[in-house]
Amino acid sequence: MKKNKLLLGAHMSIAGGPDQAIERGQSIQCSTIQIFTKSNRQWHAKPLSTDVRNSFIKKQQAIGPVVAHASYLINLGSSNLQTIQKSIPGLIIELERCQLLKIPYLVLHPGSLTEKTLAEGLQKIARNLDVALQNAKSDTMVLLENMAGQGSVSCYDFEHIKLIRQYSKESKRIGVCFDTCHAFAAGYDFRTKQLYEDMWHDFNTIIGLEHLKVIHMNDSKKELGSRVDRHEHIGKGKLGLNPFTFLMNDPRFESIAKILETPKEGLSDDQTNLQILKNLIR
Ligand SMILES: [Zn+2]
Ligand SMILES: [Zn+2]
Repeated sequence: MKKNKLLLGAHMSIAGGPDQAIERGQSIQCSTIQIFTKSNRQWHAKPLSTDVRNSFIKKQQAIGPVVAHASYLINLGSSNLQTIQKSIPGLIIELERCQLLKIPYLVLHPGSLTEKTLAEGLQKIARNLDVALQNAKSDTMVLLENMAGQGSVSCYDFEHIKLIRQYSKESKRIGVCFDTCHAFAAGYDFRTKQLYEDMWHDFNTIIGLEHLKVIHMNDSKKELGSRVDRHEHIGKGKLGLNPFTFLMNDPRFESIAKILETPKEGLSDDQTNLQILKNLIR
């Protein structure tokens, strides 16, 4: 990866095949994109043809690295045995699809807390994650995403992410994706420079900045600490422009992929948000 190259993009639809997502991203000047490697709301995955794979790998050279996001159905912490029995193979399939497409990172919602104690809940997630990582024919890294904290989900607290990595035997293959909307909804305020610096100081002390690989750039419709996950256009939500100004100009995150997951009816919505972010660069 070249230094000083801005890695900025948005989540793109894979309608027509994963390789089409790269073209969509390029059409609005994305230098990176995020995709689902399969439909995110069903378990079934259509096999990737050699043509699609080759076309994707070739196109990725111009835009990479591409980031994948795992299906929302996967829940490695579920109390339902059937869900676990689908989630582990489901994650293995996604890791192997990433390998076939040469995608280095797979963002994962870590899963819910369903055991008696926090430690037991996080140990269960780590154990199931290890099974997937140990059985997938893949070098792709799983990125645990910080969550807003709706319902029983884990990882609304940086400590949870630290503990899952600590309990895992495969922590070398587990990084972190930071979502701005989720952090704010979970109660992390970073709307002033001091609060921003304090939050990253905590992140670094608890998790380690070196494990941060991707940032999701989303404003929040809901208030600080609401625990409700509703993404908003950049600058139009409760976060406002300040946190994004800090992120776009932070030399620590220069080479980290920054990806929009803001509401969209068409590519022009992404285009507007990308331009707002680019205009923040001093
Ligand atoms: Zn996510
Ligand atoms: Zn996200």
